[in-house]
Amino acid sequence: MSKYVERVLKETAARNGNEPEFLQAVDEVLTTLDPVLKKNPQYEANAILERMVEPERVIMFRVPWVDDKGIVRVNRGYRIQMNSAIGPYKGGLRFDPTVNLGVLKFLAFEQVFKNSLTTLPMGGGKGGSDFNPKQSPHTPGKRCSDAEVMRFCQSFMTELFRHIGPDTDVPAGDMNVGGREIGYLFGQYKRLANEWTGVLTGKGLSFGGSLIRPEATGYGDIYFAENMLAMRGETFEGKKCVISGSGNVASFAAQKLMQLGAKVMTLSDRSGAIFCEDGITEKMLKDIMVLKTVKRGELADFAKKTKAVKFFAGKNSWQIADKIDAAFPCARQNELNGKDAEYLLKHGCTLVGEGANMPSTPDAIAAFLKAKIMYSPGKASNAGGVATSGLEMSQNSERLSWTAEEVDSKLKGIMKSIHDNAWEAAAKYGDKGNYVMGANIAGFVKVADAMVAQGVC
Ligand code: NAP
Repeated sequence: MSKYVERVLKETAARNGNEPEFLQAVDEVLTTLDPVLKKNPQYEANAILERMVEPERVIMFRVPWVDDKGIVRVNRGYRIQMNSAIGPYKGGLRFDPTVNLGVLKFLAFEQVFKNSLTTLPMGGGKGGSDFNPKQSPHTPGKRCSDAEVMRFCQSFMTELFRHIGPDTDVPAGDMNVGGREIGYLFGQYKRLANEWTGVLTGKGLSFGGSLIRPEATGYGDIYFAENMLAMRGETFEGKKCVISGSGNVASFAAQKLMQLGAKVMTLSDRSGAIFCEDGITEKMLKDIMVLKTVKRGELADFAKKTKAVKFFAGKNSWQIADKIDAAFPCARQNELNGKDAEYLLKHGCTLVGEGANMPSTPDAIAAFLKAKIMYSPGKASNAGGVATSGLEMSQNSERLSWTAEEVDSKLKGIMKSIHDNAWEAAAKYGDKGNYVMGANIAGFVKVADAMVAQGVC
């Protein structure tokens, strides 16, 4: 590791010691950049790394709201505006009790490189709250009602609206922020700003949303994997796949895999994992999507009613099947550890395509790289979501709606260029096939060059 990277890592750790996820994400990127830093001394001379690890702005605010029993509740809201060198801040909002400053800084940092990889002009940001829509504050075991979620979203936007805008910062959804939440947030923004504008992406189709946006992250993950397979002359036909999660990313990754002839054997959620050796059927997947997005239930409930699947309470998807060709972590950060990686490799897995952000722990990543399997880091393979958000912004600006086929074909093209750019950058800097290094370098160079050109700011 170069002295420059070593110094910045040390300083970052000293300044942000209580933010382990952020430090993990910074470490993962900076330790792969030596070859490009060596060839370009202007980056160190302009303190590019030091500036990249410091958010341009952090907004933290109180979110008071009233629950269905009339009790006042208080959550904490955040927006991290990480880097605007190549475009307005762009990145999702996450509502989950695990949300804190460090988690959002890790996500915002990843987002900067991801957005740069998409080839679209978008800077990086991330936000959210420790609000938990999956647990009512007054009735254990029950979820928040739609009215409670609406009141929370309205209060959250009442502060956030003054910090965002179509040319400043354009948030989207993330964990627990789907169509319902984006609708409420957009409604409140419009009311406060007195302006109908493309300030959020992931909107409903009747108010400026893009076709294929809900599918885009999951589909994009699989398109990226198809490109990796094509480099080895393979396809998904007949491949045995395991997926974690059963939310937005996981369910559309599963749908695309089924369309391509693969067998999806597992899905998971906080209650556990379901396993179906012969492959989850399209009908089962449809029922699971309704269960998760409309009834807002758990896979444990689904397993009780479906004889064809086995249920593993409290388990993730990795250590269940005997023969695995490909794995897709699509739930959350650090959900696939060294032991899981060992199991996957031992049971035949030659492809890991991350749909979630930073789902593999550092020892799992090291095992995948050592085994030289096809391994794509989330910032490259899950970029389809934000790329399609970029397409939604373009449609909003032009006051146009593209067809599903048009958007899907643009998404495919973007995932191919992300794949090819990462592949070429890795080859150029001496580690062919290492998509981690390739994606980090390809994402970094564009932002770093823009920062150098814009002077010290
Ligand atoms: P989502 O719809 O909320 O789904 C998340 C899934 O992960 C759910 O099945 C959830 O289970 C599961 N999960 C969360 N925490 C868990 C835990 N502690 N233990 C076990 N399972 C857990 O979220 P999403 O939008 O699919 O996002 C998933 C990942 O993809 C995140 O890392 C996100 O940052 C990343 N991502 C999303 C997008 C996007 O467009 N949505 C774009 C890029 C990256 P429950 O249903 O039981 O809660």
